[in-house]
Amino acid sequence: MEMTFSIIKPDGVRRNLVGKIFNMIESAGLRIVATKMIHMSRREAEQFYAVHKDRPFFGELCDFMCSGPVVVSALQAPDAVTKYRDLMGATDPKKAAQGTIRAAFAESIGENTVHGSDSKDNAAIELGFFFAGTELVNRAR
Ligand code: GDP
Repeated sequence: MEMTFSIIKPDGVRRNLVGKIFNMIESAGLRIVATKMIHMSRREAEQFYAVHKDRPFFGELCDFMCSGPVVVSALQAPDAVTKYRDLMGATDPKKAAQGTIRAAFAESIGENTVHGSDSKDNAAIELGFFFAGTELVNRAR
């Protein structure tokens, strides 16, 4: 069993899409192990996206991620990282496959509704950034 880390970004929360996205996540066979709504500070957004600090859109990305509340979750399934990346769809919603979260809901490459870890190593780092081990209460055994 593998775990990955998900964020429903401020555009998704603002547009009342949390329930619909959770439904897609659970329907795809991913288990919600932990979840909470938070409002990131600018500093937390900068730390979380530090790998992108040299990209031209870094400032815009951090402004967006702290513009409103987000829902962070730990998701579990066999092959959870790949399964959730497939469910999210391509970064640019215009290129996202039918049936994916971004094809259904994302409005632009920046405001693209969801984040998901891109590797098992990053999943562990990102989960540790937002969750204490004691919060991962719904793990399948
Ligand atoms: P992801 O793994 O599919 O989320 O994509 P990346 O790791 O390449 O980028 C991280 C996040 O940065 C994306 O989800 C977008 O929110 C944002 N992003 C990526 N490319 C652009 C861009 O060209 N412009 C803006 N404004 N944001 C971008």
